[in-house]
Amino acid sequence: MRITAVHSHVLQYDLPEELGYSQQYYACRTAHLVEVQTDDGITGWGECFGPGNVALPNKGIVEKVIQPMVLGEDPLDRDVIWHKVYNLLRDHGQKGMPMQALSGVDIALWDIAGKVAGLPLHQLIGGAHRDRVRAYGYGMMLKRESVADHVVRFRDEAAAILDMGFTATSMQVGLGPRDDVRLCQAVAEAVGDRGLFMVDANHCYTTSDAFHVGRGLEELGAYWFEEPVAPEDLDGYRELRAGLKVNISGGEAEFNRWGWRQILENRGLDIAQPEVCALGGVSEYLRVLALCHAHFTPVINHFWGSAIAVATNLHLLAAMPPLPGGLNPWEPMLEFDTTDNRFRDDLLTEPLNIQAQVAAGDGTVAVPKGPGLGVTPDRDFLKHYEVG
Ligand code: CA
Repeated sequence: MRITAVHSHVLQYDLPEELGYSQQYYACRTAHLVEVQTDDGITGWGECFGPGNVALPNKGIVEKVIQPMVLGEDPLDRDVIWHKVYNLLRDHGQKGMPMQALSGVDIALWDIAGKVAGLPLHQLIGGAHRDRVRAYGYGMMLKRESVADHVVRFRDEAAAILDMGFTATSMQVGLGPRDDVRLCQAVAEAVGDRGLFMVDANHCYTTSDAFHVGRGLEELGAYWFEEPVAPEDLDGYRELRAGLKVNISGGEAEFNRWGWRQILENRGLDIAQPEVCALGGVSEYLRVLALCHAHFTPVINHFWGSAIAVATNLHLLAAMPPLPGGLNPWEPMLEFDTTDNRFRDDLLTEPLNIQAQVAAGDGTVAVPKGPGLGVTPDRDFLKHYEVG
């Protein structure tokens, strides 16, 4: 079997309302899917992390840089392909967009391998340690409104996310450390003992501001404090983890085994959040997972993207070994964005219906069972939203 083509599909639409996190407001939803075609008719699908216009030049890396390196290769040789591409790109991008581009291609090769074997991705890896995964509802975005309006809206949205059936929820901060603590108080009150709440700062604080917010989160019982400081600030992470009782999480902006080795050895994370669509795909995710577990650091995958990324993460979460195991073991969760996203809800020929599953059950989601990723994008949908 040979690879005959590698295509990027960059999808975009204008959101019904602007959304914000601590770095910016955005009004456009983007997804970057990768399709790998083979000479025996099997097609694999993958996804590259990279919201916004990053996806447009990254399409060029996938199609004009990586595609010529892999045309004619056997798609089942995914580790050979990974190292060929990485070694040839090493001088130009050990992190960032080239790794995001390689991630989408690698995920598509795993999809092909599953389809050839007739096995779902989680079984190709080694089997499902769990058939269902608890989902946490990500929401409570920033808007151009007053602090007081944020407080009222976040209280309502936290309750609404729990009413949807989620048993854990994640909120944004970024108004400034003192106002952010007020926001967290409102969410903590709304959540009460109905579930967990987590706080995502998207690396907007200095270390001292992060200590201020983190002490508030200790009082309020937040489950984790995500990306409190810049990903490059290894000292800040280490000091915060040593000085705060709240779990420090992060890692979505880190790449490959070498980057992860550094942040794990730094001992600055209580919970690791690797992003499979950015760090190097499934092949590299499995190596990063092994590194995390070698450091006894639990893993909760980062997710931001389309239904392709949701399916990929469900398989990876199913196949994640227990750490350290037990009668009532620590369990990973699926990050699930509750804001408007057609690429998550309407992309597939057979939708995953995550929200309906969460509402129907105990806040958990079933792992796809079909070969490979077990999901197929709708071609007409792709055509409708494709840009660039
Ligand atoms: Ca995050």
